Amino acid sequence: MSRNKQGALIGCGFFADNHMHAWKTLEGAEIGAVCDLDRAKATAMATKFGIARIYDDPAKMFDHENLDFVDVATTVESHLPLVRLASTHAKTVICQKPFAENMKDAHAMVAAAKNAGSNLLIHENFRWQKPFLTMKKLVDDGTIGTPHFAHFSFRHGYDNYVNQPYLAKIDRFAIMDVGLHLFDLARLFMGEVAHLSCTKQSLNPIVQGEDAFTALLNMENGGTCICDCSFYSKFSPEPFPNTAAVIEGDKGTVHLDRWNRLTVHTASGAETSNVDPAVPLWGAKPWHCVQDSVTNFQAHAIDVMHGRTNPRPSGEDNLRTMALALAAYDAAEQASSMNMAQWS
Ligand code: NAD
Repeated sequence: MSRNKQGALIGCGFFADNHMHAWKTLEGAEIGAVCDLDRAKATAMATKFGIARIYDDPAKMFDHENLDFVDVATTVESHLPLVRLASTHAKTVICQKPFAENMKDAHAMVAAAKNAGSNLLIHENFRWQKPFLTMKKLVDDGTIGTPHFAHFSFRHGYDNYVNQPYLAKIDRFAIMDVGLHLFDLARLFMGEVAHLSCTKQSLNPIVQGEDAFTALLNMENGGTCICDCSFYSKFSPEPFPNTAAVIEGDKGTVHLDRWNRLTVHTASGAETSNVDPAVPLWGAKPWHCVQDSVTNFQAHAIDVMHGRTNPRPSGEDNLRTMALALAAYDAAEQASSMNMAQWS
Protein backbone atom coordinates (compact mmCIF):
# COMPACT_ATOMS: atom_id res chain seq x y z
CA MET A 1 0.00 0.00 0.00
CA SER A 2 1.18 3.56 -0.71
CA ARG A 3 2.06 5.88 2.19
CA ASN A 4 -0.53 6.80 4.78
CA LYS A 5 -2.59 9.82 3.77
CA GLN A 6 -2.10 12.67 6.24
CA GLY A 7 -5.19 14.18 7.79
CA ALA A 8 -6.60 16.57 10.37
CA LEU A 9 -9.75 16.37 12.46
CA ILE A 10 -11.82 19.53 13.00
CA GLY A 11 -14.28 19.33 15.89
CA CYS A 12 -13.27 17.33 18.97
CA GLY A 13 -16.71 16.83 20.52
CA PHE A 14 -18.83 13.83 21.48
CA PHE A 15 -18.97 11.89 18.21
CA ALA A 16 -15.42 12.68 17.01
CA ASP A 17 -14.11 10.19 19.57
CA ASN A 18 -15.50 7.41 17.32
CA HIS A 19 -13.81 8.97 14.26
CA MET A 20 -10.46 9.05 16.07
CA HIS A 21 -10.71 5.45 17.29
CA ALA A 22 -11.58 4.28 13.76
CA TRP A 23 -8.71 6.26 12.15
CA LYS A 24 -6.34 4.65 14.68
CA THR A 25 -7.39 1.11 13.71
CA LEU A 26 -7.26 1.65 9.92
CA GLU A 27 -4.31 1.36 7.53
CA GLY A 28 -3.77 3.92 4.77
CA ALA A 29 -4.55 7.19 6.56
CA GLU A 30 -3.66 8.87 9.82
CA ILE A 31 -4.59 11.99 11.75
CA GLY A 32 -1.60 14.22 12.57
CA ALA A 33 -3.42 17.33 13.81
CA VAL A 34 -6.61 18.13 15.68
CA CYS A 35 -8.51 21.40 15.90
CA ASP A 36 -11.39 22.72 18.02
CA LEU A 37 -12.44 26.27 18.83
CA ASP A 38 -12.41 25.01 22.41
CA ARG A 39 -8.68 24.39 22.89
CA ALA A 40 -9.27 22.24 25.98
CA LYS A 41 -11.28 19.78 23.86
CA ALA A 42 -8.59 19.67 21.16
CA THR A 43 -5.92 19.11 23.81
CA ALA A 44 -7.92 16.32 25.47
CA MET A 45 -8.40 14.59 22.11
CA ALA A 46 -4.71 14.98 21.21
CA THR A 47 -3.62 13.57 24.58
CA LYS A 48 -5.99 10.61 24.34
CA PHE A 49 -4.87 9.65 20.81
CA GLY A 50 -1.21 10.74 20.90
CA ILE A 51 -1.59 13.56 18.35
CA ALA A 52 1.33 16.01 18.26
CA ARG A 53 -0.24 19.12 16.72
CA ILE A 54 -3.13 21.01 18.32
CA TYR A 55 -5.04 24.03 16.96
CA ASP A 56 -7.96 26.20 18.07
CA ASP A 57 -8.26 28.04 14.75
CA PRO A 58 -8.92 26.10 11.51
CA ALA A 59 -7.37 28.85 9.30
CA LYS A 60 -4.14 28.72 11.33
CA MET A 61 -4.11 24.96 11.08
CA PHE A 62 -4.36 25.11 7.28
CA ASP A 63 -1.49 27.65 7.20
CA HIS A 64 0.77 25.22 9.05
CA GLU A 65 -0.32 21.74 7.89
CA ASN A 66 0.23 19.91 4.63
CA LEU A 67 -2.88 17.75 4.41
CA ASP A 68 -4.25 15.02 2.13
CA PHE A 69 -7.61 14.95 3.92
CA VAL A 70 -9.73 16.80 6.45
CA ASP A 71 -12.39 15.19 8.65
CA VAL A 72 -15.01 17.78 9.67
CA ALA A 73 -16.86 16.52 12.77
CA THR A 74 -18.42 19.80 13.91
CA THR A 75 -22.14 20.59 14.11
CA VAL A 76 -23.94 21.84 11.00
CA GLU A 77 -23.73 25.66 11.37
CA SER A 78 -19.93 25.56 10.87
CA HIS A 79 -19.87 23.24 7.83
CA LEU A 80 -20.01 25.81 4.98
CA PRO A 81 -16.93 27.88 5.97
CA LEU A 82 -14.98 24.79 7.05
CA VAL A 83 -15.71 22.75 3.91
CA ARG A 84 -14.86 25.79 1.73
CA LEU A 85 -11.54 26.25 3.52
CA ALA A 86 -10.70 22.54 3.64
CA SER A 87 -11.44 22.09 -0.09
CA THR A 88 -8.67 24.50 -1.02
CA HIS A 89 -6.14 22.70 1.20
CA ALA A 90 -6.86 18.96 0.84
CA LYS A 91 -7.81 16.54 -1.92
CA THR A 92 -10.38 14.77 0.29
CA VAL A 93 -12.87 16.46 2.59
CA ILE A 94 -15.21 14.45 4.82
CA CYS A 95 -18.14 16.31 6.37
CA GLN A 96 -20.44 14.97 9.08
CA LYS A 97 -24.18 14.98 8.53
CA PRO A 98 -26.36 17.02 8.53
CA PHE A 99 -24.35 18.38 5.65
CA ALA A 100 -26.17 21.76 5.63
CA GLU A 101 -29.20 23.59 7.03
CA ASN A 102 -30.44 24.65 3.57
CA MET A 103 -29.94 23.79 -0.11
CA LYS A 104 -28.05 27.02 -0.86
CA ASP A 105 -25.26 26.12 1.58
CA ALA A 106 -25.23 22.48 0.44
CA HIS A 107 -24.85 23.52 -3.21
CA ALA A 108 -22.13 26.02 -2.23
CA MET A 109 -20.11 23.25 -0.54
CA VAL A 110 -20.47 20.91 -3.51
CA ALA A 111 -19.38 23.71 -5.86
CA ALA A 112 -16.42 24.67 -3.63
CA ALA A 113 -15.13 21.08 -3.64
CA LYS A 114 -15.68 20.73 -7.38
CA ASN A 115 -13.89 23.99 -8.19
CA ALA A 116 -10.95 23.00 -6.00
CA GLY A 117 -10.79 19.51 -7.55
CA SER A 118 -11.37 17.93 -4.16
CA ASN A 119 -13.47 14.85 -3.27
CA LEU A 120 -16.29 15.66 -0.86
CA LEU A 121 -17.71 12.74 1.15
CA ILE A 122 -20.58 12.99 3.60
CA HIS A 123 -20.16 10.97 6.79
CA GLU A 124 -23.46 9.13 6.20
CA ASN A 125 -22.87 5.95 8.17
CA PHE A 126 -26.25 4.14 8.39
CA ARG A 127 -25.71 2.59 4.93
CA TRP A 128 -22.34 1.35 6.28
CA GLN A 129 -23.93 -0.48 9.25
CA LYS A 130 -23.46 -4.26 9.08
CA PRO A 131 -27.23 -5.02 8.87
CA PHE A 132 -27.65 -2.67 5.87
CA LEU A 133 -24.47 -3.90 4.14
CA THR A 134 -25.93 -7.43 4.50
CA MET A 135 -29.38 -6.38 3.22
CA LYS A 136 -27.88 -4.49 0.28
CA LYS A 137 -25.94 -7.58 -0.80
CA LEU A 138 -29.10 -9.73 -0.55
CA VAL A 139 -31.14 -7.26 -2.59
CA ASP A 140 -28.37 -6.77 -5.20
CA ASP A 141 -28.00 -10.57 -5.49
CA GLY A 142 -31.68 -10.76 -6.47
CA THR A 143 -32.72 -12.79 -3.39
CA ILE A 144 -36.04 -10.94 -3.04
CA GLY A 145 -36.47 -9.92 -6.69
CA THR A 146 -37.38 -6.33 -7.51
CA PRO A 147 -38.23 -4.28 -4.37
CA HIS A 148 -41.63 -2.54 -4.42
CA PHE A 149 -42.06 -1.62 -0.73
CA ALA A 150 -39.66 -0.61 2.04
CA HIS A 151 -39.97 0.60 5.61
CA PHE A 152 -37.11 2.09 7.67
CA SER A 153 -37.96 2.74 11.30
CA PHE A 154 -35.80 4.31 14.03
CA ARG A 155 -37.74 4.44 17.31
CA HIS A 156 -36.37 4.40 20.85
CA GLY A 157 -36.52 6.06 24.26
CA TYR A 158 -32.78 6.41 24.97
CA ASP A 159 -31.73 9.69 26.61
CA ASN A 160 -29.73 11.25 23.76
CA TYR A 161 -29.73 14.66 25.42
CA VAL A 162 -27.02 13.72 27.92
CA ASN A 163 -24.32 13.27 25.25
CA GLN A 164 -25.84 15.67 22.71
CA PRO A 165 -27.62 18.44 24.69
CA TYR A 166 -27.91 20.61 21.55
CA LEU A 167 -30.46 18.15 20.12
CA ALA A 168 -33.05 19.31 22.66
CA LYS A 169 -32.53 22.97 21.73
CA ILE A 170 -32.73 22.99 17.93
CA ASP A 171 -35.92 23.87 16.03
CA ARG A 172 -35.35 21.15 13.42
CA PHE A 173 -34.38 17.94 15.18
CA ALA A 174 -35.60 14.43 14.25
CA ILE A 175 -35.87 14.91 10.48
CA MET A 176 -32.48 16.67 10.23
CA ASP A 177 -30.77 14.34 12.68
CA VAL A 178 -32.13 10.88 11.77
CA GLY A 179 -34.46 11.53 8.82
CA LEU A 180 -31.41 12.17 6.66
CA HIS A 181 -30.05 8.71 7.51
CA LEU A 182 -33.39 7.02 6.74
CA PHE A 183 -33.88 8.94 3.47
CA ASP A 184 -30.37 7.92 2.41
CA LEU A 185 -31.35 4.27 3.03
CA ALA A 186 -34.60 4.76 1.10
CA ARG A 187 -32.67 6.08 -1.92
CA LEU A 188 -30.00 3.37 -1.63
CA PHE A 189 -32.54 0.54 -1.73
CA MET A 190 -35.45 2.03 -3.67
CA GLY A 191 -34.06 4.74 -5.98
CA GLU A 192 -35.20 8.35 -6.26
CA VAL A 193 -38.36 9.88 -4.79
CA ALA A 194 -41.17 11.34 -6.90
CA HIS A 195 -43.54 12.54 -4.11
CA LEU A 196 -43.16 12.93 -0.37
CA SER A 197 -45.63 13.55 2.43
CA CYS A 198 -44.84 13.82 6.12
CA THR A 199 -46.22 14.38 9.60
CA LYS A 200 -44.14 15.46 12.58
CA GLN A 201 -44.72 15.35 16.34
CA SER A 202 -43.25 17.01 19.42
CA LEU A 203 -43.65 14.43 22.17
CA ASN A 204 -41.03 14.98 24.86
CA PRO A 205 -41.72 18.31 26.64
CA ILE A 206 -37.98 18.98 27.17
CA VAL A 207 -37.39 19.04 23.40
CA GLN A 208 -37.86 22.24 21.35
CA GLY A 209 -38.16 20.80 17.82
CA GLU A 210 -39.94 17.71 16.50
CA ASP A 211 -38.79 14.44 18.09
CA ALA A 212 -40.87 12.16 15.85
CA PHE A 213 -41.92 12.06 12.22
CA THR A 214 -43.46 9.70 9.67
CA ALA A 215 -42.76 10.20 5.97
CA LEU A 216 -44.42 8.46 3.04
CA LEU A 217 -42.33 8.36 -0.15
CA ASN A 218 -43.69 7.51 -3.60
CA MET A 219 -40.66 6.38 -5.56
CA GLU A 220 -39.97 7.25 -9.22
CA ASN A 221 -40.07 3.52 -10.07
CA GLY A 222 -43.55 3.10 -8.59
CA GLY A 223 -42.34 1.73 -5.25
CA THR A 224 -43.58 2.92 -1.86
CA CYS A 225 -41.41 3.64 1.15
CA ILE A 226 -42.12 4.66 4.75
CA CYS A 227 -39.49 6.30 6.93
CA ASP A 228 -40.36 6.93 10.57
CA CYS A 229 -38.51 7.98 13.67
CA SER A 230 -39.28 8.67 17.30
CA PHE A 231 -37.05 9.62 20.21
CA TYR A 232 -39.97 9.01 22.63
CA SER A 233 -40.88 5.32 22.17
CA LYS A 234 -40.96 2.74 24.92
CA PHE A 235 -39.46 -0.67 24.09
CA SER A 236 -37.91 -3.36 26.23
CA PRO A 237 -35.10 -4.07 25.74
CA GLU A 238 -34.21 -0.56 24.59
CA PRO A 239 -33.33 -0.82 20.86
CA PHE A 240 -31.26 2.41 20.56
CA PRO A 241 -29.51 3.10 18.22
CA ASN A 242 -30.72 0.37 15.87
CA THR A 243 -32.98 0.77 12.84
CA ALA A 244 -35.69 -1.75 11.94
CA ALA A 245 -36.40 -2.34 8.26
CA VAL A 246 -38.54 -4.32 5.84
CA ILE A 247 -37.94 -4.58 2.11
CA GLU A 248 -40.47 -6.49 0.03
CA GLY A 249 -39.79 -7.68 -3.50
CA ASP A 250 -41.64 -9.90 -6.00
CA LYS A 251 -39.63 -12.96 -4.86
CA GLY A 252 -39.27 -12.41 -1.14
CA THR A 253 -38.91 -10.11 1.85
CA VAL A 254 -36.03 -9.13 4.11
CA HIS A 255 -36.96 -8.10 7.63
CA LEU A 256 -34.52 -6.55 10.11
CA ASP A 257 -35.83 -6.29 13.67
CA ARG A 258 -34.82 -3.59 16.17
CA TRP A 259 -32.28 -5.93 17.77
CA ASN A 260 -30.40 -6.71 14.52
CA ARG A 261 -31.94 -10.09 13.73
CA LEU A 262 -32.40 -10.43 9.99
CA THR A 263 -35.02 -12.75 8.50
CA VAL A 264 -35.05 -13.58 4.79
CA HIS A 265 -38.43 -14.85 3.54
CA THR A 266 -38.40 -16.62 0.15
CA ALA A 267 -40.35 -19.41 -1.55
CA SER A 268 -38.12 -21.89 0.27
CA GLY A 269 -39.06 -20.61 3.74
CA ALA A 270 -37.71 -18.16 6.29
CA GLU A 271 -34.18 -18.00 7.64
CA THR A 272 -33.09 -15.79 10.53
CA SER A 273 -29.52 -14.74 11.31
CA ASN A 274 -27.88 -12.40 13.79
CA VAL A 275 -26.35 -9.43 11.97
CA ASP A 276 -25.34 -7.52 15.08
CA PRO A 277 -21.66 -6.57 14.65
CA ALA A 278 -19.06 -7.39 17.30
CA VAL A 279 -18.34 -4.59 19.78
CA PRO A 280 -15.11 -2.93 18.54
CA LEU A 281 -12.16 -3.35 20.98
CA TRP A 282 -12.42 0.39 21.61
CA GLY A 283 -16.24 0.50 21.56
CA ALA A 284 -19.14 -0.12 23.93
CA LYS A 285 -22.77 -1.19 23.79
CA PRO A 286 -25.29 0.15 22.79
CA TRP A 287 -23.18 2.17 20.30
CA HIS A 288 -21.31 -0.78 18.73
CA CYS A 289 -23.35 -1.00 15.49
CA VAL A 290 -22.81 2.73 14.89
CA GLN A 291 -19.14 2.51 15.93
CA ASP A 292 -18.58 -0.42 13.57
CA SER A 293 -20.22 1.60 10.76
CA VAL A 294 -17.87 4.55 11.40
CA THR A 295 -14.93 2.18 10.82
CA ASN A 296 -16.59 0.80 7.66
CA PHE A 297 -17.30 4.32 6.34
CA GLN A 298 -13.78 5.57 7.08
CA ALA A 299 -12.24 2.45 5.43
CA HIS A 300 -14.28 3.44 2.38
CA ALA A 301 -13.01 7.05 2.66
CA ILE A 302 -9.44 5.68 2.63
CA ASP A 303 -10.24 3.74 -0.56
CA VAL A 304 -11.49 7.03 -2.06
CA MET A 305 -8.30 8.85 -0.97
CA HIS A 306 -6.17 6.18 -2.65
CA GLY A 307 -8.22 6.41 -5.86
CA ARG A 308 -9.71 2.93 -5.55
CA THR A 309 -13.39 3.97 -5.58
CA ASN A 310 -15.81 6.92 -5.69
CA PRO A 311 -17.40 8.56 -2.62
CA ARG A 312 -20.52 6.86 -1.23
CA PRO A 313 -22.22 9.13 -0.62
CA SER A 314 -20.58 12.14 -2.25
CA GLY A 315 -21.64 15.67 -1.41
CA GLU A 316 -23.38 15.83 -4.77
CA ASP A 317 -25.36 12.64 -4.09
CA ASN A 318 -26.28 13.88 -0.62
CA LEU A 319 -27.96 16.98 -2.12
CA ARG A 320 -30.95 14.78 -2.95
CA THR A 321 -31.10 13.39 0.58
CA MET A 322 -30.89 16.93 2.01
CA ALA A 323 -33.71 17.99 -0.33
CA LEU A 324 -35.91 15.19 1.04
CA ALA A 325 -35.32 16.28 4.64
CA LEU A 326 -36.10 19.92 3.84
CA ALA A 327 -39.14 18.95 1.76
CA ALA A 328 -40.36 16.83 4.68
CA TYR A 329 -40.57 19.96 6.87
CA ASP A 330 -42.53 21.81 4.19
CA ALA A 331 -44.86 18.84 3.68
CA ALA A 332 -45.47 18.50 7.43
CA GLU A 333 -46.04 22.24 7.91
CA GLN A 334 -48.37 22.59 4.91
CA ALA A 335 -50.27 19.40 5.90
CA SER A 336 -50.89 18.89 2.20
CA SER A 337 -52.97 15.75 2.64
CA MET A 338 -56.70 14.97 2.40
CA ASN A 339 -58.82 16.56 5.13
CA MET A 340 -60.96 13.60 6.19
CA ALA A 341 -63.64 15.88 7.69
CA GLN A 342 -64.67 16.69 4.11
CA TRP A 343 -65.26 13.00 3.39
CA SER A 344 -67.81 12.20 6.10
P1 NAD B 1 -20.37 18.37 19.76
O1 NAD B 1 -21.05 19.66 20.01
O2 NAD B 1 -20.14 17.44 20.91
O3 NAD B 1 -18.94 18.63 19.08
C1 NAD B 1 -18.73 19.57 18.08
C2 NAD B 1 -17.38 20.23 18.33
O4 NAD B 1 -17.05 21.07 17.23
C3 NAD B 1 -17.34 21.12 19.57
O5 NAD B 1 -16.29 20.70 20.42
C4 NAD B 1 -17.13 22.53 19.04
O6 NAD B 1 -16.33 23.34 19.89
C5 NAD B 1 -16.42 22.23 17.72
N1 NAD B 1 -16.55 23.30 16.71
C6 NAD B 1 -17.70 23.93 16.32
N2 NAD B 1 -17.43 24.82 15.33
C7 NAD B 1 -16.10 24.73 15.10
C8 NAD B 1 -15.22 25.38 14.19
N3 NAD B 1 -15.66 26.32 13.33
N4 NAD B 1 -13.91 25.05 14.20
C9 NAD B 1 -13.44 24.11 15.07
N5 NAD B 1 -14.23 23.46 15.96
C10 NAD B 1 -15.53 23.77 15.97
O7 NAD B 1 -21.19 17.66 18.61
P2 NAD B 1 -21.29 16.08 18.27
O8 NAD B 1 -22.40 15.49 19.05
O9 NAD B 1 -19.94 15.47 18.35
O10 NAD B 1 -21.80 16.17 16.76
C11 NAD B 1 -20.94 16.62 15.73
C12 NAD B 1 -21.59 16.25 14.39
O11 NAD B 1 -21.65 14.83 14.32
C13 NAD B 1 -23.04 16.76 14.25
O12 NAD B 1 -23.21 17.26 12.96
C14 NAD B 1 -23.89 15.51 14.49
O13 NAD B 1 -25.11 15.51 13.75
C15 NAD B 1 -22.98 14.43 13.96
N6 NAD B 1 -23.26 13.11 14.54
C16 NAD B 1 -23.32 12.07 13.68
C17 NAD B 1 -23.61 10.81 14.14
C18 NAD B 1 -23.67 9.68 13.15
O14 NAD B 1 -24.06 8.57 13.49
N7 NAD B 1 -23.29 9.91 11.91
C19 NAD B 1 -23.85 10.59 15.50
C20 NAD B 1 -23.75 11.68 16.39
C21 NAD B 1 -23.44 12.95 15.89
